[in-house]
Amino acid sequence: RPRAAVVVTGSELLTGAISDRNGPWLARELAALGFEVAHVQLVGDRPDDLARALERADDDGCELVVTSGGLGPTADDLTGEVVARFAGVPLDLDEAMYARIAQILAGFAARTGFGGPALDAANRKQAMVPRGAVALDPVGTAPGLVVPRPGGPLVVVLPGPPRELQGMWPAALASAPVRDLLARVPAAGARSLRYFGLPESEIAATLRAIEAECDLSDVEITTCLRRSELEVDLRPQPGAEAVAEAVHAELAARHARHLVSADGTSTDELLARALRERGWTVATGESCTGGMLAARLVDLAGSSDYVAGGVVAYSNQAKTDLLGVPAEMIATHGAVSPEVARALADGARERFGADVGVGITGVAGPGGGTEAKPVGYVCFCVTTADGQVIARDPRLPGGRTDIRERSTDVGMHLLLR
Ligand code: ATP
Ligand code: MG
Repeated sequence: RPRAAVVVTGSELLTGAISDRNGPWLARELAALGFEVAHVQLVGDRPDDLARALERADDDGCELVVTSGGLGPTADDLTGEVVARFAGVPLDLDEAMYARIAQILAGFAARTGFGGPALDAANRKQAMVPRGAVALDPVGTAPGLVVPRPGGPLVVVLPGPPRELQGMWPAALASAPVRDLLARVPAAGARSLRYFGLPESEIAATLRAIEAECDLSDVEITTCLRRSELEVDLRPQPGAEAVAEAVHAELAARHARHLVSADGTSTDELLARALRERGWTVATGESCTGGMLAARLVDLAGSSDYVAGGVVAYSNQAKTDLLGVPAEMIATHGAVSPEVARALADGARERFGADVGVGITGVAGPGGGTEAKPVGYVCFCVTTADGQVIARDPRLPGGRTDIRERSTDVGMHLLLR
């Protein structure tokens, strides 16, 4: 499988001022295309560091390197020059690109009353294209580049702002040099499974059992915990697709009870699909998650089809006033109790006229735990207009943030039932 590398530039990423969004995004894209991603390197705005990162990708046998950032008009934006040196070619002014940038800036100046000769001079630099490279049309003001190094990797140079980088990616893939490279990359043939409530040790044991019967050396198997789900990815080497297929079927069959999806579909998408199919709407009554479940539910575009609304009822007063939880119930059972979770679910469902209601109340900590109701004790209830009730009261591990995030995950999975 051909190797690829990502080099993310920007000193602001090394101070921790902002966190890198391009490295993970590009790594995912490259893996999906069938590359083995050798590394994602993060370097500051120092030309020598960038040059060394490119050399390392070449040394490691990468056929494709994608860079992010450093294409702007300012003095610290040097990626074009460094990549030209790496490819061993001079930079030429691309007249057409220069005209294109001038046109974009004129449009910008007309809209904002901002711009002029200084900007114009600086942007001349952005129209400098390494000889033999393909320039990609700007999404912001900076053009991207596709630069071949003779006997080395193809370098795709993209702008730093994630919106611009992602916007330019299709054009980079469609450029002739990248298309030629992709023609030689075997399809990824990756398969993935997601489980909820299955310990990682069980998957490990199952994999050991399968390995005892068949040779898995040509299938890369990775497991990762994400959003309380165990995700198992199978990536076959060319020729090992049938083995991956068989392992996939075996994994799906052995842990069917915990299987959420066997084709990579996310829980959020599955829930959206299930609610749409039934024509149901959902409403939330949340205490310890403070609206995180409602936020998660509206994450997908088009969620207004099935989300009615939600109430954050944090104080006892709010539970009573906004969702009709009886004050005596709170006094008798406590605000964190299965009874109150159910009353929150019913209250939200009725107030919003929804088909499904979900109530969450728990001890997020770090204080407030008791022996009977320790930190991490969270009560969930899902009720439907036609009388179904699903209730759970697990003790969730971790600190305050973990508990609230896991509670949101559990809420999603109970709704999916
Ligand atoms: P510009 O013309 O905007 O300067 P550029 O290609 O030079 O484009 P950078 O200067 O590296 O890009 O980054 C511009 C801004 O884009 C950064 O200040 C940051 O807000 C955002 N950005 C850049 N790289 C990343 C990244 N890897 N992850 C998240 N945000 C990023
Ligand atoms: Mg910049």
